[in-house]
Amino acid sequence: MSEMLYSKNPTKKTIVNINGVKFGQEFGIIAGPCAVESKEQLIEVAKTLLDSDVKIMRASAYKPRTTPYSFQGMEEEGIDILSEVGKETGLATETEITSIEQIKHASKKIDVLRVGARNMQNFELLKALNKVDNPVILKNGLASTIDEFLGASEYLLQGGKTNVILCWRGIRTYETQTRFTADVLAIPILKELTHLPVIADPSHPAGRLELVTPLSKAFVAAGVDGLIVETHPDPKNSKGDTLQQIPLKEFEKYVQIVRNYAKK
Ligand code: PEP
Ligand code: MN
Repeated sequence: MSEMLYSKNPTKKTIVNINGVKFGQEFGIIAGPCAVESKEQLIEVAKTLLDSDVKIMRASAYKPRTTPYSFQGMEEEGIDILSEVGKETGLATETEITSIEQIKHASKKIDVLRVGARNMQNFELLKALNKVDNPVILKNGLASTIDEFLGASEYLLQGGKTNVILCWRGIRTYETQTRFTADVLAIPILKELTHLPVIADPSHPAGRLELVTPLSKAFVAAGVDGLIVETHPDPKNSKGDTLQQIPLKEFEKYVQIVRNYAKK
């Protein structure tokens, strides 16, 4: 088998620059609500992000939910709202796409496209994404091995794409106290095996607010290049992931703690 494009080569370390934040070279934070709910919501989030010197906003417009009866996201309208807020505030925008058909519109409007855990092995989607210039964040599948995760990243890198970031979001195990099992050791292992920047999502494995800061610290200690974290003006009344999103009024403090930790 020929050498994989993701493979670590001591002379090569990929740096992905998003709005001046150089993932792979400096510690970066991406933050925002689980889902786009309204323009007012995103403007409120954007102000807090700017106050905390966070330059990239996440928010999902397409939500792959467990059943079709849960909120499915604002879809194309959500993409347009996120794009407007990005333009008005100077924040870079980041969102999940769940199908090939969404790429055309989203790639024009949104800076960074995310492949969620449930689509990590949607290889046709990954192949379609290697044809757009937008940076892509690939999350690991719920029940995928680290090798399968890296193998999936190869579909993005094929054909010369280089601006790919891996995001570790934990895996499904028998443990029920947490939403997912974080398996922090995946971080140094990934960094051993690939030159791509490796970030982590503390929100989804933690599943509840109290665990987000300790898990963020653990990810930082394990050597992540950045974090993608959920924050919302009023998590209890949000349209999903109500327990884990950091209330906006606590966000600045969270960023301070994590950045201080990253400097150590
Ligand atoms: C998300 O980041 O919005 C999300 C749904 O996470 P995951 O794909 O990791 O479940
Ligand atoms: Mn979420």
